[in-house]
Amino acid sequence: MSGKSGDLRSLYQSLIMDHGKNPRNKRPMNCDGHPEGEHGAQCRCTDGYNPLCGDKLTLYVKSDGETVEDISFEGHGCAIFTASSSMLTEVLKGRPVAEIREIAEKYLTMLTEGEATPDPEGLGKLAVFGGVKDFPTRVKCATLPWRALEVILEGVDDQDSAAESAPITTEKEI
Ligand code: ZN
Repeated sequence: MSGKSGDLRSLYQSLIMDHGKNPRNKRPMNCDGHPEGEHGAQCRCTDGYNPLCGDKLTLYVKSDGETVEDISFEGHGCAIFTASSSMLTEVLKGRPVAEIREIAEKYLTMLTEGEATPDPEGLGKLAVFGGVKDFPTRVKCATLPWRALEVILEGVDDQDSAAESAPITTEKEI
């Protein structure tokens, strides 16, 4: 089914199994909307649900508008969902918001469009999720935390609006 090399396939499997079994940054944060600290960093959260598989997610992002200082998730679902959420938090923590937007766009493009993986180098180890495209029913498991991230980043765009973060679903996407 796949044209991936054996090396990439085994990397894909071992990374996803590792993060699926031992997720990083799986913990709640206080997202009551109050800025904290001298830089006014604010924690936002949003819920996501993938009805096709049953994956449920709450994603937490703490940002001062420039940098994501902390990021974590809670939820339960399949190994691909858990691994995708875990690797998202690990890769994005501490990065500038502008850079995170680029990574999110590349990641979602990789999983939802085209034949080839665009610029896999720019995604680092997130590129292993390109293998999920071979299993269309699992794509939404791998994109759910990134869709939630997009919703939260829209709120970060406008720090003063205190936008309500509505729950999202991947049901109508792709
Ligand atoms: Zn799933």
